[in-house]
Amino acid sequence: MTATSCCRCERMTVAPVAVRHIERASGPGVTVYACPDCAPLLTPGPLPAETASPAGG
Ligand SMILES: [Zn+2]
Repeated sequence: MTATSCCRCERMTVAPVAVRHIERASGPGVTVYACPDCAPLLTPGPLPAETASPAGG
């Protein structure tokens, strides 16, 4: 297995966890990986209250 660098702590991990997928106009998207330790910190919470939009607009 190829080691992948974590997008948060930039450490090499042999068990990368996909935390985000970046769409690109040209070519395929890029999947961002994080180490198992950072994955739970980067994954958005399931709570809908977390996605509250800012007032005004
Ligand atoms: Zn990490």
